[in-house]
Formats: sequence, C-alpha cells, structure tokens
Amino acid sequence: MKQSKRAGWFVALLMMLGGCGESTLPAVDQPERARADGDIAHWQPLPLAPVPAPEVQALREQLLGADPTDPRAVKLWWVGVSSFIASMGGHLFLLDAWEPIGIQAGYVPITRAQLADLKPEAILIGHGHFDHAADAGEIAARSGAVLVGGDSVCAKARERAQQVENAQNFACVSLGNQNTPGAGSVQQIQLWSDMPPITVIQHLHSAADPGDLLAGGRPLLYVPEVLSYLQHLNTDPRVTLRFLGSLADDGGVGEPQGGTWAYHLRIGDFSLLWHDSAGALGEDNATAQRMRQAFADLPGCVDVQLGALVGFGLLTSGLRDPLAYVDVVRPHVTLPNHHDAWLPLLGGGAAAYEGQWRAALATLVYPPELDYLRDPQDYLRARVYAVDDPRWKIPPPGSRCDPAQNV
Ligand SMILES: [Zn+2]
Repeated sequence: MKQSKRAGWFVALLMMLGGCGESTLPAVDQPERARADGDIAHWQPLPLAPVPAPEVQALREQLLGADPTDPRAVKLWWVGVSSFIASMGGHLFLLDAWEPIGIQAGYVPITRAQLADLKPEAILIGHGHFDHAADAGEIAARSGAVLVGGDSVCAKARERAQQVENAQNFACVSLGNQNTPGAGSVQQIQLWSDMPPITVIQHLHSAADPGDLLAGGRPLLYVPEVLSYLQHLNTDPRVTLRFLGSLADDGGVGEPQGGTWAYHLRIGDFSLLWHDSAGALGEDNATAQRMRQAFADLPGCVDVQLGALVGFGLLTSGLRDPLAYVDVVRPHVTLPNHHDAWLPLLGGGAAAYEGQWRAALATLVYPPELDYLRDPQDYLRARVYAVDDPRWKIPPPGSRCDPAQNV
C-alpha cells in the first residue's frame, strides 16, 4: 500500500515536471502486478500468449518439435525429476524448474539456460526443495516468466535472480506457506485470461514415518541405477558448489517451509493434475480427510495425472502413498515422475520401480492406463493429448464424475 502511494506521488511529480497531461508520462512496459509479489487476490490474469520472437520459436521447434504450442493439443515434455515443459491453450510454461545436476551433469538433454530461452510464460512450483525449484529464480529472471509457488519460493527466487546479469522483471504469486492456508485447502488462480482457472490443492510432502514400519510397513526394495551417474559424472567444481548451495532450500528434507502444492489445469474437456510429491493420504485424521476430499472433488475430475512416484515414504511404507493418490484421483491415464536417476540411491532410475509400480496399480479397483516414463529416453519426448479427443468427454471410471458413483 505504501509503495503504491509513493508511486502515485512519483507519477504526480512527473506530471508536474512535465507541465502537461498523460502524454508525457514515461511508458510503463509492465503493469503493477509484474513488479509486486502478492497472493492470488492481488493477481491480474495474463493476457493472450505473446507471439514468440523468431529465435525463440526456432529454439522451441528445435527442442520440442513442430508447432509446440498448437492450441488444439496439450503437450508435455519431461525434463527430469518432476519438471516438465507444458503447452496448453497456446501457452508455454514450466512445471517445476531444476536442471538435474550436481553429482552428475548432462544427463537430461536440456540446460536451465535453454529452459529460460524457450521463454516460458509461467513457472508453477510444486514445492521449494532444490530438486524442484533451485533454478526457478534464474529462469524467471532470464525469461520474465511469472512464478507461482509458496512465499519462501518467491523469496529464494528473488535472491537467486540477483546473480543474473540483465535480470528481467518477473512477478511471483504466493500461494501461502507450510501452515497457511493449510493442507487440504483449495485455491483457484486465473493465471491466464483465456484459460479456465487453475485449481491448487495444498497437500503434504512425502515423509519417512518410522511408525509405518512398526505398523507393518515395508521399505521398497529396488536395484538402483549406478551406471548413468558414472557416465555423466560432473567434474566442474562450480556446478558442485552451486548444487551444494541449494541443498538446504526451503528447509531441506522436511516439509517445505513454502508448502506443497498440486495443480489442476483444464482446457475444454481435458484436465491435467500435476503433483511433485506424495505425502501420506491414508491416515484417518481431519487433514488427510480434507486432502482426499479436495483431490476427489476436482472440477471435471482428472484425465491425466502426473504424480510423484518416489519420495521418502518409500523407505517406510513402500508405494502406499503414491498409490493412494492414484486411487483417490482415479484418472484415465497416469504418468509417474520423480523416479529417474537424479541423485545416487534415492533416485533409482525409472527401470528400478517399473515392475513394482505396475503390480501396485493392478491392485486398484479402478486401475488407470499407465504411461510409464523412462529415463533417459523419455526426456523431451512429447506426450500429446488432443483437446477434442472424445475420450475426455467420458468421466474417468470410478471417479466422482462417473455417474455410476452417484446412484
Ligand atoms: Zn524432490
């Protein structure tokens, strides 16, 4: 409030100095929202997708293929861990922002500089741990993309943006923090003026709960990938330093200070749910109940679910938590993420979990179609969903939208 008052005085002063009316005011290239952080209530929707500069379009086509932002399709390109490039309604944006480097380098065939050069319009952050958001500030500052995430994610991004030369202005929309509005809460954000609002559910980060072992839970046993790390070993000390400097982002390994957020995006009859972690949904307490309700009640349900498969819960309760998300959401199609070889041992590589994940899904009453992403071959390999595919008109079986569930 103080700032806008000050800005008002400044404008008035300019008008006086200029000696005449509006025509002498300096051109304002960014609206107020592009400068000020704030919550959803203070957000003004972005306009239609900007026409990309020729070199941006050329890079998009080189990395993503022909017509990457065809508005008749929703397209997704996996770029490691839970990060995706997404195209929807003609808009190009990012889900999470981290180039998987540190112990390794060059395993994912795209750099953070290229992610920025694609000029995404927005970056949606699921939570602020380094493997999801460490590059958010740099990419936002290089591209001007709007950042959406917890308030500590905004703060960290602003800090990192200061290291970027010729940093661009970017807006950050804060969803809240670890306790506010709280797990199970539902918010809606009209990110773009020409798209339906995005529904954001606050949920919980995965956690290793020793109590689960006492209650009969088992760690998931798997044979982790080793070779890829040796083949892509990082030898640049600057990369190592940068990696080490990000390890404690947003509170380190516990529940992120900036909260954990799932995003539900819609266009036409198609809907996409993306969540980059999977906390426990199974405990019969009020919070778990609220979260389950929020996921089950998503408007139009979920056609495609991009869900985190690997998390700390694997150590004490196997695949219980990621499976619970699939069971409560009941999508048409599910794709796993966070299961590639991104960190030795914890990142076992997709192949390490495939058999057990297929077996787990087969135990569900309503098993969805599984599109199992594999590293490294599925990095940057487009998943394309035609918006007018009649399949999306059919409510996913067993979901809240299925009329058979409401008789
Ligand atoms: Zn993670």
